[in-house]
Amino acid sequence: MGKKHILYYTIVEFLENGKCPVCGLIKKRREEYFEHVLFEQINDIGFRKKLRTTNGFCNYHTYKFLSYHDSLGTALIYQDLYLSDIKNLERGKIVKSPEKCVVCDIEKDAEKTALDVIFSFLNDSEFKEVFMRSKGLCLPHYKKILLLHSDIPQWFKEFHMKRFKKIAETLHKFIDSENVSLGDKRPTLTKEEELIWKEAVEFFAGVEGLKW
Ligand SMILES: [Zn+2]
Ligand SMILES: [Zn+2]
Repeated sequence: MGKKHILYYTIVEFLENGKCPVCGLIKKRREEYFEHVLFEQINDIGFRKKLRTTNGFCNYHTYKFLSYHDSLGTALIYQDLYLSDIKNLERGKIVKSPEKCVVCDIEKDAEKTALDVIFSFLNDSEFKEVFMRSKGLCLPHYKKILLLHSDIPQWFKEFHMKRFKKIAETLHKFIDSENVSLGDKRPTLTKEEELIWKEAVEFFAGVEGLKW
C-alpha cells in the first residue's frame, strides 16, 4: 500500500462521481493531450517530427483530434504528414498508417497506472469504503484487473458481481416499464433508472475507443 498521492484522489473523485475510475483517467489523459500538450506544442518542430515518425494518429484519435476544430493546428500537422508520406512513396516506401499512435500509448499508460493504484489500495479501509459507495469498475476494467492479479480480495469480486447483476435487473425493470400490456403492474422508475440503458452500455463497453 503506497502513500495517498494525487492520483489516488483523482481515482476517488471518479468513484464518487459514479464513473469507472480507469475509464475516467484514460479520458482525462486523452483530453489533456489534445487540449494542452498538442496545442501548446503544435509549432514545435521536434513535436511535429515525432508525429511524422509515427505517421500521425490511429484512425480513432485522428477523429478525436479533428473534433477540436483547430483549423491551423490541423493544417500544420497534416501538411507535414502529407509531405513526409509523399516522400516515402517517391522512395517506393509504403508506410502503414499509422505505425504507432502516441495517444494510444498515453491511454495504455493511464489504464495501467489506474489499475495499479486501485490494486495497491484494495486492502485500505478508507478506499474500500469509497469503493463500496461507488459504481465500481466497468466490465472490461474489472476483467482486466482479474487478468492482471490472481489475489483480488473477495469483497471486490462480490461487489462487482452484485453491481453487474443489479444493472441486468434494472434493465429488466426498465423493459417492464415500457410494456403497456402490464397495465397497473408497470413499474415506476427513479430518475436514475430511467437512464439505465445508457449506463449499462457505458459500463459494458468502457470508455469510447477502449482497446484490449
Ligand atoms: Zn473502465
Ligand atoms: Zn490512437
